Amino acid sequence: MAIKVIVAGFKGRMGSTAVDMVKSDEALELAALLDPFAEEKDLDGVPVFNDKEDLIGFDADVWVDFTMPKVAYENTRFAIENSFAPVVGTTGFTEEQIADLIALSSEKSLGGLIAPNFAIGAILLMEFAAKASQYFPDLEIIELHHDKKKDAPSGTAIKTAELIAQSRQSKVQGASDEEELMAGARGAEYDGFRIHSVRLPGLVAHQEVIFGAQGEGLTLRHDSYDRSSFMSGVNLGIKEVVKRDTLVYGLEKLL
Ligand code: NAP
Repeated sequence: MAIKVIVAGFKGRMGSTAVDMVKSDEALELAALLDPFAEEKDLDGVPVFNDKEDLIGFDADVWVDFTMPKVAYENTRFAIENSFAPVVGTTGFTEEQIADLIALSSEKSLGGLIAPNFAIGAILLMEFAAKASQYFPDLEIIELHHDKKKDAPSGTAIKTAELIAQSRQSKVQGASDEEELMAGARGAEYDGFRIHSVRLPGLVAHQEVIFGAQGEGLTLRHDSYDRSSFMSGVNLGIKEVVKRDTLVYGLEKLL
């Protein structure tokens, strides 16, 4: 039996790519679509909803979410409460919100995934960066995205920073008498290192982690040139969450 999938944010850049991916896989069935501002009542026979409350009791297995940071927590909570296993790519969750959703999913014995990045190369970059930070504790993260992105820094940069902080010996970088002549010049501070966000038209999703040491440097970089780069991860997430009984944060937990 095909896995029945709801796509929230189906008109967006990521949501519409996810719709195409679901339609192209016979093991998946596009069951419903959600967007508060959609005017159409269906898309090729698939019902379109404007209000998530109308999905209570709807027959579906998985809730794919590519919406907006400000609604992602509420949507994911709603999905879990209504037994739709969430596969969430929307970014902007706080640590407390993730812990809360993991606890709720365990209570309901429902699988789920929140992944700030579904691209395999980005997962590898995060792992390599965490490893390298054990030997190169001086580093800066530069994330680069298209100019319509609403949150900064990116969810991937935050996750990378968290992983680095877990393996790197904590230290504060830069000169102790450093002075910012323009606010924000040194980027956001996390565990003593810096995160910089670049927003430009033409970009999709890119990240560099630059390490510096005495007389040498190391740069790790990942580029998503196209949103299709995220879809094998979303597909894997959908197929895995229906077999599990708790939500996980990070695609690497399912690999
Ligand atoms: P986007 O093009 O702005 O799409 C978001 C869509 O969600 C819009 O069509 C928006 O409608 C709709 N929406 C807003 N509120 C909603 C609600 N309450 N319920 C359902 N739909 C709602 O953004 P995007 O570029 O696709 O990115 C979406 C999210 O995915 C962002 O948080 C982004 O950072 C993240 N992302 C994640 C990955 C990953 O690998 N995890 C990769 C890329 C992007 P309106 O435009 O009409 O408001």
